[in-house]
Amino acid sequence: MREELTHLLYPRKCPGCGIVLPAGLLVCDECAEEFKQIEEPTCLICGRHITDERTERCYTCTNSERSNIFGISIFAYDDIMKKAMSDLKFHGQTDNADFFAAMAVSRAGSRIRSFDPCALIPVPVHKSRLRVRGYNQASLLCDRIGKLLGIPVVDDFLLRTRKTGFQKNLGNIMRKRNLDGAFSCNTRDYPKDVVTARLQRVLLVDDIYTTGSTMEHCSKELVKAGVAEVGLLSISISGGT
Ligand SMILES: [Zn+2]
Ligand SMILES: [Zn+2]
Repeated sequence: MREELTHLLYPRKCPGCGIVLPAGLLVCDECAEEFKQIEEPTCLICGRHITDERTERCYTCTNSERSNIFGISIFAYDDIMKKAMSDLKFHGQTDNADFFAAMAVSRAGSRIRSFDPCALIPVPVHKSRLRVRGYNQASLLCDRIGKLLGIPVVDDFLLRTRKTGFQKNLGNIMRKRNLDGAFSCNTRDYPKDVVTARLQRVLLVDDIYTTGSTMEHCSKELVKAGVAEVGLLSISISGGT
């Protein structure tokens, strides 16, 4: 009943085309086909599609420092996804997170369960951005995925301690530099013994994976703080090799 009322008052819109959806649907039939899922085989470390089945890692993960043990991504970062993500991040279309979370669970739920993470950790945004936007899209994704899989979300361990410019406007080298010192772990509330006891395996979650430098900076901090195994989940990923 409450769900029906919510639907009447705030009808859910399709994350792809924006039409009002019948109650219970998270995407319209046409757009369900349009969102392109990442095909196998995929890079072990970032989840990007790779063409050479004999290799485990994509070109970027072979040639870059990587501290996570595996990575999964769900969708290609193409035009329809760009719009759906930007609606989620900048236009208050938070319902889109329900669709992304449901797809992540149907596609990667069993892999995530077998990793058995102690917690889901969102890639944090700086608090000044949080103030403007009102929410962190990665936290919204974590909350929904956590609820569906019964995994707790920990969002006060990994912090964004320095504000950075938007990554998308920068080249690869500047991206890396832009993020130096941007993240750190809350070691006051989570000293090493607590991390060892409670956060041995964590799944780091973000909306978009581009060069991987954001997630690598986060993953490195987590490992430094005592996490033994970091897995990555991104909803969408750009490019492919
Ligand atoms: Zn649609
Ligand atoms: Zn890769």
